Amino acid sequence: MNALVTKFFTLLVISSTVAAAQVTDDWRTFAERTAFRETPRYGPTLEYCKRLDAASDWVALQSFGTSPQGRDLPLLVLSSEGAFTPEQAHATGKAVVLIQSGIHPGEPDGKDASLMLAREIAITKSLAKLLERAIVLMVPIFNVDGHERFGPYNRINQNGPQESGWRVTSQNLNLNRDYLKADTPEMRAMLRLFTDWLPDLYVDCHVTDGMDFQYDVTYAMELYRNIDDEVAAWITERFLPPMLAGVNRSAHLIAPYIWPREYNDISKGFMSSAATPRFSTGYGAAQNRPSLLIETHMLKPYARRVSATYQVLLATLETVNGESDRLRRVVREADQRVIESALIEPPAYLPLSFRSTKNARDWTFLGVKSRKINSEVLGTSLVVFDSEPEVQTVPYYAGSDVVDSVLIPRSYVVPREYTAVIDVLRAHGIRLRTLTRPLELEAHLSRLTEPRWQAEPSEGRHSLRFKSAESSELRTFPAGSVVVPLDQRTGKIAVHLLEPRGPDSFVRWGFFDAIFEQKEYAEAYVIERVAQEMMARDTTLRLEFASKVRSDSAFARNPWARMNFFYQRSPYWDSSLGLYPVARISTTIDPAFLE
Ligand SMILES: [Zn+2]
Repeated sequence: MNALVTKFFTLLVISSTVAAAQVTDDWRTFAERTAFRETPRYGPTLEYCKRLDAASDWVALQSFGTSPQGRDLPLLVLSSEGAFTPEQAHATGKAVVLIQSGIHPGEPDGKDASLMLAREIAITKSLAKLLERAIVLMVPIFNVDGHERFGPYNRINQNGPQESGWRVTSQNLNLNRDYLKADTPEMRAMLRLFTDWLPDLYVDCHVTDGMDFQYDVTYAMELYRNIDDEVAAWITERFLPPMLAGVNRSAHLIAPYIWPREYNDISKGFMSSAATPRFSTGYGAAQNRPSLLIETHMLKPYARRVSATYQVLLATLETVNGESDRLRRVVREADQRVIESALIEPPAYLPLSFRSTKNARDWTFLGVKSRKINSEVLGTSLVVFDSEPEVQTVPYYAGSDVVDSVLIPRSYVVPREYTAVIDVLRAHGIRLRTLTRPLELEAHLSRLTEPRWQAEPSEGRHSLRFKSAESSELRTFPAGSVVVPLDQRTGKIAVHLLEPRGPDSFVRWGFFDAIFEQKEYAEAYVIERVAQEMMARDTTLRLEFASKVRSDSAFARNPWARMNFFYQRSPYWDSSLGLYPVARISTTIDPAFLE
């Protein structure tokens, strides 16, 4: 404990520069040349990438797509054998690691650390060993348009660089909420990159806001119920111990991502639970890939943050090199388990939503002293932080309880007219089939009722809550219906999208809002006649209506509800209202009906 505190103080006085080998002045990065006061714009970033490409046989600069404002999305491929395509890379048998920076361009630490790391790997070759058992993909700036909304006032909490990019895209969307719904061209491009290269490990670099503490950098990896058990075991047993040890050997303190259970009260402790697939880590988990979230701390000076990110990336790549074969085997076996999970009897469950565990253990937390002040600005009390270190033992609630799960069907059938949904499924690399002839199948259906939309938009959409009732019926599906078989490695992604109750499902994000709209209405004087005829024919119905009028005063006072009572029981009612049009199929579809 004392050693760690000493380490903290040491950090305050030494300039935390990366222990790079002899770098000629010529190869210093833009950030290094400014002593980390500045970070390069898109242009100089790309210039440096081009120089790396031109100077080294180990580097290829590619574009993996185009932003809405027309910028190329840059990808650096680092391979000591020049395996610059996914096919060549996979043929080497090496692990593929994707390091992504600038999903939030106001947090450019990953970009500047990556450029330095690429130089040490491919130019000075002081870190050439990192390519012995790995191929490294670097996306220095994912959100390129947001990056070019550049200025000094984009990150009020953050201690440098002087200017940086903006959090969201030119369409004002947050890419780190867009993994599943894939509304943005940038995310569509990333999903294509992910599908083509299928990295064995995914890294996403950020800067965190929030309370102050001693740690320069925190990390998160999915471990709790939303990821294959063996992948989680690999992370816990094989990856984290050497990776964290590697970072701790440097001058940086690292801790799990700090997520207080109660704002302004550290004594209540911290938690760590499962991320949903809208986030990079949750998405990686659903793709069976260990995904590392790196979050440097906003209050630490930029040089120190870049250095911390660099050390985490270095320790990550060192660990992957030592674990290359095992990592590749573990993730491929997890893929195979997803395929088998759609074929077993009885069917398996896939957990969809989670809450943090109620079981805590002690955590020795390296915080800083804090005190409560009365804030004139807020008109309430407020916690402020001092620079003096303080070690506290706090409860740490690490783990998830499953709140909701679904049975995994063999396949889904999506009506061909839902083209936006089918496009997104394709964007995730999900293999789709088509019915060549009409086919009768037992269909498991959901009827969704009582939809309630969020009043305020979130990510350009109004998400909704609803109730759901399940039923089964024999249904004839027309030729052209799109079949989503789940015996494929992306099966979990399909379930998360297509099960309405999933927290990031198509229904939740509003892709199916129109199914809730009643499109035909009865005139009162028409339903009056129809209702009288119905009651004359059906005494039970007459009694049921009378009973409801007596027992339900709100109903009795509502002419619209009274009218609908009969309209819903008439043959004119639209029986598809609220009926989720995607069917679950729990039997094997005869391949003769599919193309
Ligand atoms: Zn971020």
